Amino acid sequence: MTKPGIAQASCADDYDLESMPVDKARAFIHRFLEPLTATMHVPIRDALGRVLAADVVSPVDVPSHRNSAMDGWAMRGEDLAPGAETALEEIGASFAGRPFAGVVAPGQCVRIMTGGVVPAGADTVVMQERARADGKRVAFAPGVRIGQNVREAGEDLRRGTVALAKGRIVRPAELGLIASLGIGEVDVYRPLRVAFFSTGDELKPIGSTLGEGEIHDSNRYTIHGMLTRLGCEVLDMGVVRDDPALLERAFREAAANADVVITSGGVSVGEADFVKGMLARLGEVVFWKIAMKPGRPLAYGRIGGAHFFGLPGNPVSVMVTFYQFVREALLKLMGADPVPPSPTFPAACASRLRKAPGRTEFQRGVLARGPDGAWTVRPTGEQGSGILKSMSEANCFIILGDAVGDVEPGTVVEVQFLEGLV
Ligand code: AMP
Ligand code: MG
Repeated sequence: MTKPGIAQASCADDYDLESMPVDKARAFIHRFLEPLTATMHVPIRDALGRVLAADVVSPVDVPSHRNSAMDGWAMRGEDLAPGAETALEEIGASFAGRPFAGVVAPGQCVRIMTGGVVPAGADTVVMQERARADGKRVAFAPGVRIGQNVREAGEDLRRGTVALAKGRIVRPAELGLIASLGIGEVDVYRPLRVAFFSTGDELKPIGSTLGEGEIHDSNRYTIHGMLTRLGCEVLDMGVVRDDPALLERAFREAAANADVVITSGGVSVGEADFVKGMLARLGEVVFWKIAMKPGRPLAYGRIGGAHFFGLPGNPVSVMVTFYQFVREALLKLMGADPVPPSPTFPAACASRLRKAPGRTEFQRGVLARGPDGAWTVRPTGEQGSGILKSMSEANCFIILGDAVGDVEPGTVVEVQFLEGLV
């Protein structure tokens, strides 16, 4: 069965274009996201921030040899008296990279360092803090379990098993893990190409003098930053004036050159009418009023072969809608599986918040430890959707759900960290 088109699906009875709940909009978008399939083979350093396109299978046991987890001595565990001190004779040493060649016989022990190969015959390591050496005679305190402090070969990872599954985003830890297996190149999905432009007659580039009512285009910079952090290949198409012919040309060019097209501005009531007709000719786009603040108008759809996100013009709305809708969608298109969630967690709110029920609000907050050590959150001053300073000061969103009204100090609210969000 073929999937319904975007416009058809949005006309289904249970979608209200005039008041679309956040979760529903998110779920709607996800139905239409088909991850990239093109892959490339790259040296592992170049895989940082990219998504694995194939399982990484371990060609070796990790660790490759039975080794010591501690600095100490290796011996036969059965030689140690359970209830009394035991003295053994030290016959050699096994250091990391320099194993002991002989066999440990009854009554003997070998000096061993962390990571050193546990010599033949030995099965137990006693840490040096529980031993006393007098020349070649070493006395060990009682209470040692046979097998203690020994890491078995293959304990972390067996040869032939999947070390990292397809769909994993490669972070520094994954780079190290892949390198530890002796693998120098991996398959990743090709980067997602995202074209973006700002719309608005009032927008002027940096470096030009502002006339009355004109402002500098800031959205292209936040969008550039958010996309670059996410690992996308960006195509910045500048500012496009509110002119049908210019906009149509820009949309066509963007869709022809990218997997995803993102715009800011032009989706609010009035302006939307202006672009609606054009986008209906170029593709399939739905215009929503999301039951959220900020970020109420949002357009989503397809233009030619590209996905399209039409974000509102207000600078804070751009960032909120990007983090709440676009980020996850792009990660899914990039092949991430599962898409890492942006965790939310509870924190006590330090001040009173004004909030109207019936929509989800994403207030900008500062999360900090209170004097009692508990995490508390406070809003960053003025919350207007044009005030980027509130976004810059914030380290989290305070998410107030549809049902919530005014919040009294001390109430527990949901917060979502911004730091570390990719
Ligand atoms: P719009 O959604 O186009 O009606 O824009 C809403 C508000 O956001 C207006 O005050 C615009 O001037 C402002 N705005 C739109 N685009 C940008 C931009 N690229 N940079 C800064 N502000 C913008
Ligand atoms: Mg505009």
